[in-house]
This record gives sequence, structure tokens and C-alpha cells, in this order.
Amino acid sequence: MKAVYYFGDGVADGQADMKNLLGGKGANLAEMTSLGMPVPAGLTITTEVCTYYYENSQKFPNELEKQLKESVDKIEKGMGNTFGDPDNPLLLSVRSGARMSMPGMMETVLNVGLTSKTIQGLIKKTDNTRFVYDAYRRLIMMYSDVVMEKARGLHPEEGQGIRHQLESILNDYKIKNGYDSDVDLSGDDWKIISESFKVRIKKVLGEEFPDDHYEQLWGGIKAVFQSWNGKRAISYRKIENIPQEWGTAVNVQAMVFGNTGDQSATGVAFTRNPATGENNFYGEWLQNAQGEDVVAGIRTPHPLNQETKTDESKHLESLEEFLPDVYGQLNEIRSKLEKHYNDMQDIEFTIEEGRLWMLQTRTGKRTGGAAIKMAVDMVKNNMISKEEAIMRVSPEQIDELLHPRLHIEEENKSPVLARGLPAGPGGAVGQVVFTADDAENWNKGGRNIVLVREETSPEDVHGMHVAEAILTAKGGMTSHAALVARGWGKCCIVGCSSINIDFTKKQMTIGDQIIKEGDWISMNGSKGTIYLGQIALESADPESNKSYKDLMLWADEFRTLKIRTNADSPEDAKQAIKFGAQGIGLCRTEHMFFEPNRIIEMRKMILAEDLSERRKAVMNLLPFQREDFKGILEAMKDKPVTIRLLDPPLHEFITLNDAQIDELAKELSVSSEKIKNRISSLHEFNPMLGHRGCRLGIAYPEITEMQARAIFEATAELIKSEITVFPEVMIPLVGTAAEYDNQEQIVRQVAKNVMADTGVTFNYLVGTMIELPRACLTADQIANKAEFFSFGTNDLTQTTYGFSRDDIGGFLPDYLDKKILEHDPFQSLDISGVGQLVSLAVDKGKQVRNDLKIGICGEHGGDPSSIHFCYDKGLDYVSCSPYRVPIARFSAAQAVLEK
Ligand code: PEP
Ligand code: MG
Repeated sequence: MKAVYYFGDGVADGQADMKNLLGGKGANLAEMTSLGMPVPAGLTITTEVCTYYYENSQKFPNELEKQLKESVDKIEKGMGNTFGDPDNPLLLSVRSGARMSMPGMMETVLNVGLTSKTIQGLIKKTDNTRFVYDAYRRLIMMYSDVVMEKARGLHPEEGQGIRHQLESILNDYKIKNGYDSDVDLSGDDWKIISESFKVRIKKVLGEEFPDDHYEQLWGGIKAVFQSWNGKRAISYRKIENIPQEWGTAVNVQAMVFGNTGDQSATGVAFTRNPATGENNFYGEWLQNAQGEDVVAGIRTPHPLNQETKTDESKHLESLEEFLPDVYGQLNEIRSKLEKHYNDMQDIEFTIEEGRLWMLQTRTGKRTGGAAIKMAVDMVKNNMISKEEAIMRVSPEQIDELLHPRLHIEEENKSPVLARGLPAGPGGAVGQVVFTADDAENWNKGGRNIVLVREETSPEDVHGMHVAEAILTAKGGMTSHAALVARGWGKCCIVGCSSINIDFTKKQMTIGDQIIKEGDWISMNGSKGTIYLGQIALESADPESNKSYKDLMLWADEFRTLKIRTNADSPEDAKQAIKFGAQGIGLCRTEHMFFEPNRIIEMRKMILAEDLSERRKAVMNLLPFQREDFKGILEAMKDKPVTIRLLDPPLHEFITLNDAQIDELAKELSVSSEKIKNRISSLHEFNPMLGHRGCRLGIAYPEITEMQARAIFEATAELIKSEITVFPEVMIPLVGTAAEYDNQEQIVRQVAKNVMADTGVTFNYLVGTMIELPRACLTADQIANKAEFFSFGTNDLTQTTYGFSRDDIGGFLPDYLDKKILEHDPFQSLDISGVGQLVSLAVDKGKQVRNDLKIGICGEHGGDPSSIHFCYDKGLDYVSCSPYRVPIARFSAAQAVLEK
């Protein structure tokens, strides 16, 4: 086995594409070395050794020792000093490096090789006693903690660990001698402290601190491998889905020091601005400091150059001013690295006595806006292709641009008050209210509010509309609140079960925190986190973002899936067209019945005693519906519009309190008693599986008739005024071909009648939602008549799993925590279960009708991984809420390019 890969002095055994074997850090150190950049010589022990170590009772392969020594020899030649040499000692760092960066999750040991033999030599060479003893005490602190305690599996009580004990020795020493900070300590002080450290280590851990350079090195290597299985690393891997089998590599590298004096420094930089994407060299540096000092935030780092100075940092000397030659060299490396990697790099460097050393390069993390700008700029500079640019930006980064966001740094500093499901993206800040009417009233006074509800219903819509954000204690990702908020691109968190609302006191409690009406909260709807107080907001303006627009147009060149939208008002339809929608895939008609002058007719219909009375009430709704459909069809002119017939359980329309019942009784001239009886006769134990969907139209054909007539009369009128429209009538919740046939007949008959009445002929389609397992299993029978299928994966997920879509919030967190589910199946399609049913239905449907038009209109239509699945299955389109249209366009392009 080749266990060790050397790099140094312009040559390297490894290269950048060997990340699996050498880890990200090792592979890039090798690459930079081969590019002729000044990298301290070193070696990488492969991830295969890590795997071997764990498979062989934590033993190393035999060949490791020989290979390690050979490479250490080469490091010595490269750096011109010798490991363990009393006169001119080489010191080494030992660092982890996995395939994917796991920041701070594994261990590091620095200054390995400082022993009683080498200390004097180093003092003579550097003429700096303080520096050497400071380095020695750092080695002792790190090594005793990482190697002698953690790697041996010792877990002392909180605050009792060796590192903590050594820190108290240091503190006591400083107090005793009147020192304020570490910089006040002299070389002699550090020497005395190092000796006390060693005494304490012997006492607590029962062992001498090792005084042999190779013993230190082996200890360090072993400790890094051990840290792959440390608690932190294991939990991080779980969160990031990093496989256990990958293992980590270990990098052993010659130490260079940024803290040997005024001509030394250390810094981190990005080859372009990671927040804005602008093409300027952006970074921070500190004179006479070690890498950890820059990150620790104890001293204020200086800006790298003049170009990136801000009002806050303009008084601080830049590296460009202080060491212009070194800055020039670094700037050249920056261009070389970008040209080589064709991507923005995140680099670490150290300057030792005026000499520049590169310690790391990797692809830099960036905001959504920066990712898009960089990708587009790089295409325009012929650095990468359009395809590559599209693959480099994530759908989440596109989404970032479409919504206002909480200020990242402020958010990171704020403690999380509660968590729920991230139902509507972006950030929002507002004062809490607990009813829709209060929301409206407070908003009239010009205030920004957050509407907090147990769960929402169509009757809350006016309050939801004016709210900055919606927060519910119950419900899942397809609950009413989630659907509505997503439709508007509004921030929303649902299923936040730690909330207890007391409506009478107008307050809620979360843990022992009481939040009263009018108190401010901030929400991150993309993460599902809630904070007390006001966090600053950053606004969204995709329209004026040229890079975003270019990238989206390129995505459209590649994608083959059409993107439609779920919209049930002309406003939503117009918004969706702006975002690039090519039609409506789902127009839900139920909300149209909730306006005051309509709900009364609806209620009359439900309470009607006989057919003629019912018919009269239903037909009173016809003019309203016709206007609704005209508005939507016209807004979507030239594009297809799928309108779904009434779907929800009837009792949703007659959820009334006593006062409302009395009012209705008066209006209808019947007794309140009678209404109460009718309401209780409509009660269902399980309304989602009850009298809803096509079952309504079958029991009350006049509803289907009225809706079909409204659609077709609107169509005829528009065509008369020379507006091209393409209505598609969709039957909901079909489980048998007979149900479909029953409803289809009514729709086609009405179409015929309307054509005869108006003298206008028009094209239309009739098709069905596929949202029940039985519909999937018998899709061939249904496709005999149905001209299109649209997968309602919200209900299909609900009925396949048997999980109530409105109640999943109660147990989902546990399921995710315990890894029973990998993700919320209402958010991202369950490919192995629900996906099988979708596949089956597509195949069966196409067997019977090869031009069957197939789409998806469940919430999954806007979810990137579900979109990839839909592309693979050959669907014609996906339909999603307006604000997800850009993500869908983009994901559809990525699906093609991934192939
Ligand atoms: C579905 O079930 O996926 C669907 C789109 O319909 P709704 O969410 O209105 O039940
Ligand atoms: Mg449904």
C-alpha cells in the first residue's frame, strides 16, 4: 500500500483530483506545490490508512513507518533543517483532512518536535527565547489534551479536563505576577509555566510528557485518526450525511511561524468577495500572529488591501501597504489559483520573517448572490462553460435571491427561541398577533406583524395576507398555512409544537418565555428558526440582478421540462409569469367560495333540503365563478390553465360559532337548531378521507355542472374577444375509472351545451389528479378516457404512508431525529415508496394513451430532488407555487445536465 504521499520543493506525489485518498487539504497542498507555489514541505497519510487502522484494532499497516521516515527525510531536505536535530530542528504540524471539509470537528497538534534537546538549538537559531517557550507551552497544552487525554478515550467531567487545568495554572500565574494578557509574559515566564504544566500532566495523567520527537509525531498521527471517531465528528457526519467509511487523511507538514516578530504575519483570503461575488481580492491579516489568532477574534484583523477597506477598517494598515512585495506575490498566486481551479478559492497563508508560505487552498463558500455573480462572470471571461455555471449554483442559492433575509451575522449571534418546519422561505420581522382580524387591524396602523395561530384555515386568509410572516403551532409542510404562504413567497414556519397559545390572554409561551401580543419576533422561514426581538432584514430584488437573469436564461436553454405554477388568482398568475411560468398546473377553486357574498350561497347549498333548492343556490355562484375564471384565463392567455373542480370536505364551509349560526338562520329563515343538526350530520371523523374530491361532484352533480359551465362560458367570452385560452378541467381525488367517467361525462356535456348556447367552439382537455394509490394501480383504466394526469403528491404521500398531512408536525421531528425518515416526505418526494406508484402510473397511463400529458402539482413540484425524479420519469411539466418557479426552472436544467 502506498500509505504516504510527499509534497515539497516543487514536486508532489499527489494532485487535486485525489481528494478521496488524500483528503481535500492534502490534495490541494500537493497541487499548489506542483504549481510552484511556496508550500511548506510535508506529507499526507492516506484515508486508506485510516480505514486500515479501524479495521485492524487500531494498528497501522507495517509499511507506514518506513514510508513516513522516507518522506520526513525529504521534508528535511526541502526545508533545510532536521527533525529532532539539537542545532537546527524541524518542527512539524499534524492536521486532519477529510474528503469534505469538517471545520473544527477533528484534532490538530502543532509544534511537534520541540523537546529538551531541540529547544536550545531553536533559541540559538531564532534568537528568540520567548517565541520558543511560547511554542513549547502551546505544544504541551494541545498535545496533553488531544493525544494524552482525548485520544485515549478519557472523558473527565466538564471543567476537569487537562487543558482546563493547564489554563488555570496559566491564569493563576498571570494573577500572581500582575500580568494582564499573554503578551506580557517573557520567555522565562513561559519556561516556568511549561515546567509546571509537565508536573501537572504527570500527576493527573500518570505519565511524563513525551520528550522524544518521533514519539510526539506518532502520538499526533494516532490522535488525528482517533478524532475521526470523536463525538463531534460523528455528529457532524450525521448532519452532513458524510459516510463513516470515508475516513480522514493526516497531513504532517513543516511548521512555519507567523509570530516570530514584526516581519511575520498570518491571514486568510478569498480570491473574490464571497459575500457579493465581486472580482476583488478580499481577506484579513494580522501582524505577528498565529492562524488561530485571526479566527479567535481577540485582535481586530486588518484588511488585505486598499481596494477592500471600509469605513470601519480604513484606519488599519493593509498588507498591501505594510509588505507590498509580499502582497504582490500573494496577489499573483491568487490569479494563478483562480485560473487553475477556475473557481473562487479560500486560502490561508503565513508570512515568516518576510517570506510567504501558502498553507491551504480550497473552493470558497459563498452567498447565493455571490455564487450567481461569480458563475456568470466566469462564463463571460471564458473561464467556464454555461453548463458548468449552472451546475455550480444550487437551487437554494437561487432561492436566497428571491426573498428578504435576516442579516446573517446578527442571526448567528441570536439564540434560537424555537424551531418548526421551514414552510415558507426567507426572513421576516414583526410584532406578534394571534387572530386574523387583529392582524388586519394592526396592519392598518402601518405595523409589521407576524400572525401566530394554532393552525390556519381559509377564513384567516385576510390576516395571513397582511402579515409579514405566519407561524403555526400545528400542521405540516402541506398544511393550509404552508400552501398559502409559499404561494405568496411569504415567510412561514409551521408545526412549531413548543408554542402554547393562550387566546384569552393574547399571549404565547415557549418554554418559560412569555410572548405577548405586540412583542417582536424574527423568523427564518428557510431554516424554521424563531428568535426573540428584531433582527435586521436584507431585501430581495432579483429583477435588477443582471447575473441572475442571465443564468436563468441559460437554464431555460438546457431544460426540457415545462414549468407551470399553482395559482388561483390573476395576481398570483401574473407574478408566476414574471418568474417564467409557462402555464397553470393547478388552480384550486375552493378559496373562491370563501368571500362573504359567496359563502352564503355555498352554505345555502349545503343546507338545502332538496335538489331544486340546492340547484338554485349553486347556480347563484355561477356569475362569480365565471368572473374568477375569466380573470385567471386572461392573465395566462396563450398558456394552458388547469382548473380543478371543488375538492375540500363540505364541512369546511360551515365551521361556525353560535353567533354565526344564528345569523345564518335569520338569513335563511330557518331555526338555528336545524342548522346545528345539519352541521352535526355533516361531521366526519376523518374528513381528509371523507366526503371530498370527486365524491362531492358525484353526490352533488350540480356543483360540477356549475363549475364546468363557469369555465367554458369564460372561455367562450374570451375567445370572442380574440384572446387565446387553453382550459384543462381536472377531476380531483379519483380512485376508480368509474368515478372519473361519471364526472367527465358531466363536463363534456356542459362543454357541448355552452358551445351550442354561445356559438363559439373551443378546445379543452379533461383529465384527473392522480393522488390515491388505487388511481396509480389502475392508471391504465383511468387513461382510457382521461387526457392528462397530474400527480397530487400531497395526497398521494398522505395516503401511501398513512401520515395525515396536517398532523405530521407532531411526530416528524422525532422521526427525523431517530433517522426513521431521512427527510419530510411532504417536502421531498419519497422516491422509493411514493415514487414507485408514480412510475407505475406513468407506465400504465402511457400504455393506453401514448400522448397522455403528465405533470405534477403537489408541493414536490417545486422541490429540486423531486424535479430530478420527474425529469427521469419523462413527465411533461412540474407545477409549483409562483415563488418556486425560478428554482424549478433551474433544477430542471440541472436535471438535464446531470445526465
Ligand atoms: C395534492 O394532493 O398533491 C394536491 C395538489 O392537492 P391538494 O394539496 O389541494 O390536496
Ligand atoms: Mg389533493
